[in-house]
Amino acid sequence: MVDWRLYEPLINFARKRSMWIVAFCTGCGGIEMPPLMTSRYDLERFGMMPNPAPRMADLFLITGYVTPKTLKRIIITYEMQPDPKYVLAHGSCPLNGGIYWDAYNAIKHLDKYIPVDVAIAGCMPRPEAVMDGIKKIMELIETGKADGWKRYKENYEYYKKNQDELFGEGWRERTARRWIPWLMNKRKEIGGGEE
Ligand code: SF4
Repeated sequence: MVDWRLYEPLINFARKRSMWIVAFCTGCGGIEMPPLMTSRYDLERFGMMPNPAPRMADLFLITGYVTPKTLKRIIITYEMQPDPKYVLAHGSCPLNGGIYWDAYNAIKHLDKYIPVDVAIAGCMPRPEAVMDGIKKIMELIETGKADGWKRYKENYEYYKKNQDELFGEGWRERTARRWIPWLMNKRKEIGGGEE
């Protein structure tokens, strides 16, 4: 039988150089993505590309403040991603609320709800700082220390308790009940799903 642990360093090296980013931006930091992806900083050099499908993306960038409404979508999107997956939060808002520290509708500590592998402080961090965070996450992947996805499973009760405290128990089902009819209607509107 093959012991895959022997190949871990090689697999991790390949992983760090081939990351797909969930195309999902929150807050003001989303505006840093165009310079990062285009000719000026050209993230593609590092093997990184945005992907609209979370089921085929391993890096989730949380690019700024998060409201409870957005947090629901973030959690559901994060859970859709395959393992191993990594979260990079940039801007002070996801870390401690930033300038919204006393706002009723901003999440103060994102890491209470999903694990954050690397956080970059600043308001807003420049693309160079985001590049630095990306290099840090690459280092963690290469050394096998980017383990947020494992922590999410091991401490699922902790994360679920915090999520339920904020949204109330059964929030996933309630969200799905609201979204599935909306999606079905949209599908009809664009002519899909016809018999
Ligand atoms: S840290 Fe600053 S730039 Fe980033 S989302 Fe918050 S207010 Fe906007």
